[in-house]
Amino acid sequence: STLAADTTTTAVCGFCATGCGLRLHMRDGEAVGLTPETKYPVNLGMACPKGWEALRVLDSDDRATDPLVRKPDGGFDPVSWDTALTLFTDRFKSIQNKYGKESIAFLSTGQIASEEMAFLGALAKFGMGMVHGDGNTRQCMATAVTAYKESFGFDAPPYTYDDFEQSDCLVFVGSNPCIGHPIMWERVLRNRKSPEIIVIDPRRTETAMAATQHLQLRPKNDLSILYAITNQIIQRGYVDHSFVDQHTTGFEQLREHVAGFTTASVAEQSGISEEQIIRAADTIGTKEAVSLWWTMGVNQSYEGTRTAQAIINIALITGNIGRPGTGANSITGQCNAMGSRLWSNTTNLIGHHKFEDAGDREKVARELGIGVDSIPTKVGWSYDRIMEGIRRDEIKGLWVIATNPAHSWIHQGEARDLLDKLDFLVVQDMYHSTETARHADLILPAAAWGEKDGTFINSERRYSLIKKVRKAPGLALSDFSILRGVAHYWGLDEMFAKWTDPEAVFRLMQQLSVGQPCDISGINDYQQIDRCGGIQWPWSQRDASECDVPEPQRRLFADGKFYHDDEKAKLIAAAVTPMPEPTDDEFPVMLMTGRGTVSQWHTQTRTSKSPVLRKLYPRDPYVEINTLDARSMDVSNGDWVRVTSRRGSLLAKAMVVPTVRSGQAFMPMHYEATNQLTLSHFDPYSRQPSYKNSAVRIERS
Ligand code: SF4
Repeated sequence: STLAADTTTTAVCGFCATGCGLRLHMRDGEAVGLTPETKYPVNLGMACPKGWEALRVLDSDDRATDPLVRKPDGGFDPVSWDTALTLFTDRFKSIQNKYGKESIAFLSTGQIASEEMAFLGALAKFGMGMVHGDGNTRQCMATAVTAYKESFGFDAPPYTYDDFEQSDCLVFVGSNPCIGHPIMWERVLRNRKSPEIIVIDPRRTETAMAATQHLQLRPKNDLSILYAITNQIIQRGYVDHSFVDQHTTGFEQLREHVAGFTTASVAEQSGISEEQIIRAADTIGTKEAVSLWWTMGVNQSYEGTRTAQAIINIALITGNIGRPGTGANSITGQCNAMGSRLWSNTTNLIGHHKFEDAGDREKVARELGIGVDSIPTKVGWSYDRIMEGIRRDEIKGLWVIATNPAHSWIHQGEARDLLDKLDFLVVQDMYHSTETARHADLILPAAAWGEKDGTFINSERRYSLIKKVRKAPGLALSDFSILRGVAHYWGLDEMFAKWTDPEAVFRLMQQLSVGQPCDISGINDYQQIDRCGGIQWPWSQRDASECDVPEPQRRLFADGKFYHDDEKAKLIAAAVTPMPEPTDDEFPVMLMTGRGTVSQWHTQTRTSKSPVLRKLYPRDPYVEINTLDARSMDVSNGDWVRVTSRRGSLLAKAMVVPTVRSGQAFMPMHYEATNQLTLSHFDPYSRQPSYKNSAVRIERS
């Protein structure tokens, strides 16, 4: 056949943070097909539909192939890279001259390679003088990051995927891996211990249907329920006092705090029974290896950080950490969310250092060979504060890389107005057609996954390679090459002389990581990462001196030592806060949003380009409503309904289901209009948007 491959190579998938290994089938140096990699320790030969279609979405008519400049009539003109980067530099510099260096900011992503994130963050903050920059990881992982840092002393998901198979009890809180992380769910299905599966979720999700216990709480009662379970664990004698005494602080305060969360009081408000709470506590308390997992139901909440810490507390007080099958485990969303957490130079100084720490700034300056004065001394604004800065005319120019805020940001109508308010908006993306690109003054065409090299870091801390197996279309360049161009046109060739290619930057990252919990200085080179099926951090020179090849599955905290100065984990609890927008007579339905399908990814920019993936998902937006509510509105399955919140109104098809309770509704985030409805409200510690609690009204259309 003309499509027969002449060689193969491997690369990690570029959609979700599971990080499945794919084998790419090459002909004449170009990938012509792919299959899941059977030897990869993550996916063991499996892939979800998105992974199978990873190459198909590269061939699309709306790929950005030329730099595009906005014309006065509103259209775009293709221009050369020289014109585009001259304009980029002139416009941003003139804004800075007029309004100050802090008046331009960037919004990046969990979708580009770690080396590109490191380069972008260093270029923007050390070279171009920006102070404010954030990533779309604010929308998915900020809560877990904050929770881990406060509880463990470092943003350190402790687990390895083998834990899915080693647990005899798995607890999923606000997490639906059947849909969100299907290959992780496959790992659960490989568990031969007949585990108890406890799901805490207001919807009867696919995962809840497979659970042995489903605590179908009213939305946003998760913190109360977790405290009630903690109270029962303490009262019923399941605490591992030896572990608590040796390895944690704050147990007495926790005990006193949760004593007020009686089963009777919590059952009444949360919609689950006292017996369910007690049964869950008994199960967690008596099983040998309990792992607790959470995703966006927890993270995307106005009290997400404390909820995540309530999960961490349960793992700690029962001694379920550091052993096979245990852990308080945040599952990451995007393919390289962790790259953003460690390397984007946003919330943390590059390499998870601190902007406010003079010693850290000196170390970074020394390792990168730059002046310490070029490093900001304060943390920049989070995403929401950057948007607020636009409103207040303090941010006048914005550089958006591989993310789509005009679709995905909370209270979308307001977000779009703010993008239009900017003096200059640059969008760097692989497609020219995203909702955000429609607002751009300049579009920079970027190569995609499969068209460039670098590393991604998955949910279990595994560095893996992405590879150039296709040529990018037209004039599109890798984000790395675009950054090299920006550095040149900005006059920063000298500062970034060492940042020549992704592997050179990886070596800089290794130097920066020395002495950090995320130390990767023991990795030899990219080839070793490839040979080993990825390498989980930490892998320091000391680790490497004791063992040539890292074990394929490694977890943290086997020695009970955490990253605070006293080496103990902190047990943290706080008062439950009221829901910011409760339902009322005018808006009587609580709307939740989330992932709706295995076949679509986030704002569908890539996955909608695959005819196969499109067929697996309804084209029209839909809203899941309960059978009783549908009957009272005289609405049948498939009828159009109008969904209205205080912020916007849209039409969607009714999907009448028993899986959401009466008075609740669910809309997938993949549809463009969904965030017209959502409430702009944030976790006070992580600044993560609370996407899952907007009061709406639903009417027959
Ligand atoms: Fe890719 Fe995630 Fe699907 Fe694996 S589960 S194939 S990483 S999208």
